[in-house]
Amino acid sequence: MVAQMSQRFYTSLPLAPGMVELTGAEAHHAATVCRLRLGDPVCLFNGDGHEYPARIVSTGRKAVQVEVLGIESPHRELPFALEVAAPLPKGDRGMFLVEKLTELGVTSFVPLSCERSVIQPGEGKLEKLDRHVIEASKQCGRNVLMRVGPVVAWQEYGATGPRGEVRIAAHPGGTQTVARVGPRVPAMRVAVGPEGGFTDAEIALAREHGWHIIDLGPRILRIETAAIALAVQAVTCHSGG
Ligand code: SAH
Repeated sequence: MVAQMSQRFYTSLPLAPGMVELTGAEAHHAATVCRLRLGDPVCLFNGDGHEYPARIVSTGRKAVQVEVLGIESPHRELPFALEVAAPLPKGDRGMFLVEKLTELGVTSFVPLSCERSVIQPGEGKLEKLDRHVIEASKQCGRNVLMRVGPVVAWQEYGATGPRGEVRIAAHPGGTQTVARVGPRVPAMRVAVGPEGGFTDAEIALAREHGWHIIDLGPRILRIETAAIALAVQAVTCHSGG
């Protein structure tokens, strides 16, 4: 089903059957990169959980007119809320992480600042990440966008939040497993520390606030590997795998 998906385009406009105009990067992608022409089928989405089969009505370099033909609601989201928190790795590794978490169905990504973390993404960087979430969603068929940011300090993040969710932090030597604490919960938060690791004080704070500390094996993983591995474990244990 997903393999036969029409080319997908994002718009921030509300969508309903009728005419809509794609502009900016999406118009460029449709007209210049994909060379779409009159009558070509496409699929629009705006993050509202639905997707909109449509066809091209006219193309220009700056704007592409599209006629929305209907509304569909394929099921592509996780059956529980999954939040991943981690310090944003530098450059391409940060982009890679956001792309993979989007593909895996993660609900939200929170960039963490920890005692030993080095970079703090600024506003511009977070906007770039949002654009990356859209690109990944175009490709993977998600109709709900993964939420990104803002940056939160671990001291605050580790100590607050709604009750009833399961909280899991990765730290070498941890004794819990996702499979043991994760199944069938309505909401899960998983957290990864910076390249220098969580400090003893940060782990103590986590324990105090009900975080389960888990180990990811005998090798030290980079932030993005640890975050993706945790997300995969969360998704798998939830689906009973
Ligand atoms: N030198 C650090 C490792 C940092 S790796 C230390 O010893 O703690 C960056 C983050 O990835 C860690 O803070 C942790 O959250 C996660 N991580 C990496 N490898 C891990 C492992 N084998 N077990 C548990 N967590 C791991």
